[in-house]
Amino acid sequence: MLERLATWSRKRSPWVFHINASSCNGCDIELVASLTPLYDIERFGAILVPSPRHADVLIVTGTVNAQTKDRLRRVYEQVPEPKHVIALGACAAAGGVFKGCYNVGQGVQDVIPVDMFIPGCPPRPEAIMYGVLKLLGEVK
Ligand code: SF4
Repeated sequence: MLERLATWSRKRSPWVFHINASSCNGCDIELVASLTPLYDIERFGAILVPSPRHADVLIVTGTVNAQTKDRLRRVYEQVPEPKHVIALGACAAAGGVFKGCYNVGQGVQDVIPVDMFIPGCPPRPEAIMYGVLKLLGEVK
């Protein structure tokens, strides 16, 4: 009963922590746009939190490079279980336009497990909201 209640509340109030792992800021701007009253992702209960220790969902933007790899792993470890990761944008998914650069990896999934990829360069706020809601729909 308590477990069901916890899952129900988790699905209706996902707290989100955003980390920029070397994004060009395009994806970050679209993420912020989804929080504005125009798109208003907060109506689904999602809010941005300032600490990974308070988060349920980690949203990663940008291509992971040699400099940000360890920081991303450290932030991921600070998010309490159960946690979910969204790779936002083409760079986070597979390196994007920076793929092939000497210090760029194959994407976020090389460093931490990813539950949802939201494609686009950058993805529009509608796509971000769709991805977050789809992820919550799959939370057991
Ligand atoms: S996917 Fe496009 S908008 Fe997003 S960080 Fe990469 S280059 Fe920038």
